Amino acid sequence: MSDKEISDLDCCYNSFPVCPHCGEEQEDCLDGQPDRGDGDEWETECCECEKRYTVEMCVVVTYDTRKLESEESEPVDGRE
Ligand SMILES: [Zn+2]
Repeated sequence: MSDKEISDLDCCYNSFPVCPHCGEEQEDCLDGQPDRGDGDEWETECCECEKRYTVEMCVVVTYDTRKLESEESEPVDGRE
């Protein structure tokens, strides 16, 4: 038995998969896993405790915004 308690939360929203058995981060998780995308699941083996677990890839989408170029200057009403 491992003395380290890994909660479900410790295994979510990480930049790298975290082993649910020992908490080790698997930074090389994509080695041998080409073409993985959002929602994909695969089995992997922890390099630390050598137990197997399932990795689910969750891709987070972020957005950038900027003003339209045509609106950079104040609109003029053509009144003279
Ligand atoms: Zn492990």
